[in-house]
Amino acid sequence: MVKIDEKTVICPCGARMVLRHNRKLKKNFFGCSNYPECTNTHSADNDGAPLGIPADAETRKLRTELKEELNKYFDTGDRIQDVGDRGRFLEHYTGETRVARLHKDQIRKLLMKLRK
Ligand SMILES: [Zn+2]
Repeated sequence: MVKIDEKTVICPCGARMVLRHNRKLKKNFFGCSNYPECTNTHSADNDGAPLGIPADAETRKLRTELKEELNKYFDTGDRIQDVGDRGRFLEHYTGETRVARLHKDQIRKLLMKLRK
C-alpha cells in the first residue's frame, strides 16, 4: 500500500521514491528509485514535501479526467464559487477536498455521477 510520512513517499510499485529536481521547469518532484523500470512520478512542493497521494499512471489519468469533468460541471463563470462547490462536492462523496488525494475507485464513482 501507498504510505506517506512527511518526506517519505512510497511508489505504487512498492519502491521508495526519491526527491529530484527538474532544472528546466525549476520544480521538485519525486521519481521512483526503480527508474527506468518504473516511471511513476509524484509532485513535490518547493521545500521537497510531497503533494497529494502518489499514484500509478492509470490513477493519474483518471485524476486528469475527473478534473476535466469537474471543470465542465462547475463551470458557472464564478471562479471562487466553483472552487468552493467543487471542494464540497468532493468532500461529500469521498471525504477529501482535493483530486490529488483520490484513489481509482473513488474517481470512477465520481466520474459515473458526473457523466449521468
Ligand atoms: Zn515505482
